[in-house]
Amino acid sequence: MTPIQEKCDVLVIGAGPSGSVAAALLRQQGRQVLVLEREQFPRFSIGESLLPQSMAYLEQAGMLQAVVEAGFQYKNGAAFVRGEQYTDFDFRDKHAIGWGTTYQVQRASFDHLLAKEAEKAGAEIRFQHTVTAIDLAADKPRVTVRGANGDDYQIEAGFILDASGFGRVLPRLLDLETPSNFPVRGAIFTHIEDGIVANVAGHFDRNKIRVTVHPQHCDVWYWLIPFAGGRCSIGVVAETAFLEKYKGSDSERLQALVNEDPASKKLLENACWDTPARSIVGYSANVKSLWGKGYALLGNAGEFLDPVFSSGVTIALKSASLAAAVLQRHFAGAEVDWEKEYAIPLKKGVDTFRTFVESWYAGGFQNVIFHEHQQPEVRRMISAILAGYAWDESNPYVRESKRRLKTLEEICS
Ligand code: FAD
Repeated sequence: MTPIQEKCDVLVIGAGPSGSVAAALLRQQGRQVLVLEREQFPRFSIGESLLPQSMAYLEQAGMLQAVVEAGFQYKNGAAFVRGEQYTDFDFRDKHAIGWGTTYQVQRASFDHLLAKEAEKAGAEIRFQHTVTAIDLAADKPRVTVRGANGDDYQIEAGFILDASGFGRVLPRLLDLETPSNFPVRGAIFTHIEDGIVANVAGHFDRNKIRVTVHPQHCDVWYWLIPFAGGRCSIGVVAETAFLEKYKGSDSERLQALVNEDPASKKLLENACWDTPARSIVGYSANVKSLWGKGYALLGNAGEFLDPVFSSGVTIALKSASLAAAVLQRHFAGAEVDWEKEYAIPLKKGVDTFRTFVESWYAGGFQNVIFHEHQQPEVRRMISAILAGYAWDESNPYVRESKRRLKTLEEICS
């Protein structure tokens, strides 16, 4: 065995939102943190609409001021469109205590900013260093890393947090992957100069993500996420079999799909499609366990549900916050129970989102939000979940999400 050249308290794989926030939180505890990131930042990432709940974790990590001052597009809610129907939720009007506003961010800048904040907090980040193998046989885990110069080296860590997102490093290396319960869906997306003139666009609000249901298929939907400076992220999500019917380049397929919705077509009639579209398929994923001896999985390296309610970054940051708290007790010498203190609490909110995601694709939740008669208090409870407060047990739609939502669906059907 190659002799160990380096040691650290905590090794974080990946400098996305979960990795950077975890690194900063661990630095607050005085831990020596090394983050290994495969890419050079700034780099593109999908997942641009944040939820207000995420602000609490950015604040906890000491990153909020930097995010607020960066000039990202302010966001205060979500708008939904289905044919002629329009409804929107203002997240400031919600059944939850906490932030009601947040931002829509180009992830290249946002992730870079969080990484720089983690470095300021004292974490070391090595860009273009890829984790390629793990060895859990010894007392402490060891990873093999391919450095920027192509040379391999090994590090021994007191603990490993896998924050590698869709890279899913430990799930792959340790055979932890299990299929998601969702059908295989894909997304095609790009950034455009949107050319939307607010006063002629009817129902359009730059401060909200806009989610549009396809006019013929309730399980196909579009996102439009306005950015500051007249640009936006636009994308479509559908089962892969549906997307495969559209031929040509990703840009051609995306524009063909957008043009199938008359309101979206009209809204974007002056858009400049200046960036080639990209696509991603089969992103929903799950694992057998979110932790093991010497490691835990954060954010997308654990489970990824679905993009429809923009919950990904919020779940990623929640996982970082929970894991940092468990590690604080672990390094203080306490007997920690990762299942009880990390996996179960994290899954609580993930399962709330899961209930709503399933109902969205089956059409039930769409009938709820587009229903003509809605009780204001129920709307405030739903608004809280859409704002990311999916762990707040004072909300009946969190506490008993399945039963409550089913009843509501029946009333609204
Ligand atoms: P990531 O942000 O993926 O970061 C992981 C990092 O690990 C990357 O920088 C990667 O380069 C690095 N890495 C990977 N492998 C290795 C390795 N071997 N060694 C070292 N480093 C490695 N979420 C939202 O909140 N809002 C949205 O609007 C939204 N829209 C989405 C739309 C789509 C179509 C999809 C698929 C997802 C969307 N998401 C959204 C989800 C969001 O993208 C993720 O949940 C979020 O980025 C997860 O953060 P993370 O820190 O776990 O991982």
